[in-house]
Amino acid sequence: MKLSSVIDFLEIFAPPHLAEDWDNVGLLLGDRASDCRSLMTCLTITPDVVEEAVDGSVDLIVAHHPLPFHPLKKITADTVVGSMILKMAKANIAVYSPHTAFDSTANGINQSIAEKLNLEEITAIQIIDGNSPDLSNDIQQSKTDNNQTVPNGVFGVGRMGRLVTPTTCIEICENLKVLFDLKLVQFCGELDAVVTKIGIACGSAGQFLNDAKQMGCDAFITGETNFHTCLESIANRTPMFLLGHYGSERFAVELLAKVLSEEFPQIPIWPSQNESDPIQNVL
Ligand SMILES: [Zn+2]
Repeated sequence: MKLSSVIDFLEIFAPPHLAEDWDNVGLLLGDRASDCRSLMTCLTITPDVVEEAVDGSVDLIVAHHPLPFHPLKKITADTVVGSMILKMAKANIAVYSPHTAFDSTANGINQSIAEKLNLEEITAIQIIDGNSPDLSNDIQQSKTDNNQTVPNGVFGVGRMGRLVTPTTCIEICENLKVLFDLKLVQFCGELDAVVTKIGIACGSAGQFLNDAKQMGCDAFITGETNFHTCLESIANRTPMFLLGHYGSERFAVELLAKVLSEEFPQIPIWPSQNESDPIQNVL
């Protein structure tokens, strides 16, 4: 199988035009004409992930976070990034990153979080190209070529929706710990406040707190944010739940490995086993 087959699928699953302007998505390293005999997903490429990919003779890493992300003037072993790129190039390992396109696509990370919470009336906090005819063609194309329904629904930044029953923040914290397999959830606000409509933006996305509030959400979930956004959440009376950056996104690269395995059953595909949350909670 050619790498281009996987790339074609990923570009339909998470259309690159959904990515933020500042982002760096798509095939970032490698040759789309080369063979793809095994594939690994991960949240972030680290030296441990590269080691696993080399040991596992992986031809493609689908990494949620782009590498390289910033423009590079040198690729040498003098830096960690340069060293990782050199090792992957030497081992013929390609890198594809869907990043914010995966956050925002119909079956993307934020949609998955909303579905885990069993929200109703799910929609994006900011719609992207909701009625784009090009996008409809992409969707139709994906159904025809891959014989499965890929994106079919909301495209856009973040998600929001109604809880099946109004729920207190303390109950939501407990639910989030179970649903995302977390030891703790960080929280800003009144634990006994009751939430009906909740906004979601995975990763580091505190900048959408006020957008969610303006869209009628009475609480907001993200991975991580800064101290001042926490203060803003209190001042605006919009309770905020922080799952951790890893906690809000890692599950999605495990889901992506499953989606890819169903599409390409002829090759081994797995989520990185070497990857772990770099932050430890010392309680
Ligand atoms: Zn992220």
